[in-house]
Amino acid sequence: MKVLGIESSCDETGVALYDTERGLRGHAVHTQVTMHEAYGGVVPELASRDHIRRLVPLLRKVLEQAQTTLAEVDAVAYTAGPGLAGALLVGASFAASLAVARGIPALPVHHLEGHLLSPLLSADPPAFPFIALLVSGGHTQLMRVTGVGAYELLGESLDDAAGEAFDKTAKLLGLGYPGGPQLARLAARGRPGRFKLPRPMLHSGDFDFSFSGLKTAVLTAVRKQTLDDAARADLAAEFQEAVSEVLAAKAMAAVRASGMKRLVVAGGVGANLRLREQLNAAAAQAGVRVYYPELELCTDNGAMIAFCGAQRLLAGAEPACSGVFSVRPRWPLQELLQPG
Ligand code: ATP
Ligand code: MG
Ligand code: FE
Repeated sequence: MKVLGIESSCDETGVALYDTERGLRGHAVHTQVTMHEAYGGVVPELASRDHIRRLVPLLRKVLEQAQTTLAEVDAVAYTAGPGLAGALLVGASFAASLAVARGIPALPVHHLEGHLLSPLLSADPPAFPFIALLVSGGHTQLMRVTGVGAYELLGESLDDAAGEAFDKTAKLLGLGYPGGPQLARLAARGRPGRFKLPRPMLHSGDFDFSFSGLKTAVLTAVRKQTLDDAARADLAAEFQEAVSEVLAAKAMAAVRASGMKRLVVAGGVGANLRLREQLNAAAAQAGVRVYYPELELCTDNGAMIAFCGAQRLLAGAEPACSGVFSVRPRWPLQELLQPG
């Protein structure tokens, strides 16, 4: 079965073709980062309009990569939420139109389930069950995953997501958008410890997180004195250290509590090298293996949506009626959950 995946929830347009027999056959992403840069964040209306411009060229490129045609595609999966309403509607209507034109099913997919399953696309995928740490721009969650569709939420951020904290802190340090990768680059030149930031909820005894206080602590440090470049790098390094330490400690605590031996990390912040170092070190000590998506599949892409749609269809998911589509800008993953 060949499934086309369409992603347009935020500022990346992604199209991909996943074949349940032959794996990922084509995958292309256009990022709008340079377009939104001037505004310091995503402008929803600009995002929607750009998705419209990009989808057809990306689809052509993917079909060419896969050396196939639309006539060979068996189903279309699209991100139905959560995300920006207008942006989601562009992808959903595009997917539904393709499906009507070809007489094939269109399946709505939950964006976070896409992220969650993305490590299964790597060359050496994890087997079920595993603990998943989902760290993206809008979400920070620990989940117990026993199969496709069998997710139990163990804990999540009570305020800012990890990626959001990276982005906001980067802004405070005078860096551009998106801040996560830029903050990581600045941090690489600095040393943690010179500034002392809290490790929020490290000993809270549950699997929840809180990152908004860290951002405030950085703001206080920035306001107190003019920081030269070296000091900014040290502050960035301390921030990255604090976030990574809490994420790694809580993820490992969840793994220990579950008795499982596999930890899966997904979402954009999973690309952070310091976080990976901390996770890998803690996991090695505990005899646990950590799995990551391919680096290019950490942030938003169509491959994870195509893959997730394919898994759902294999598991007997009912696609929407022909030509009918809807999006859910707010869509808690819990509403998709079944007890594992
Ligand atoms: P969601 O999936 O929750 O709707 P999103 O799609 O915007 O949010 P992703 O695309 O998974 O999130 O990830 C983007 C986030 O990852 C941004 O906040 C970005 O700053 C962060 N990020 C990307 N690379 C790094 C890095 N190397 N270090 C830290 N953060 C990073
Ligand atoms: Mg993005
Ligand atoms: Fe995402």
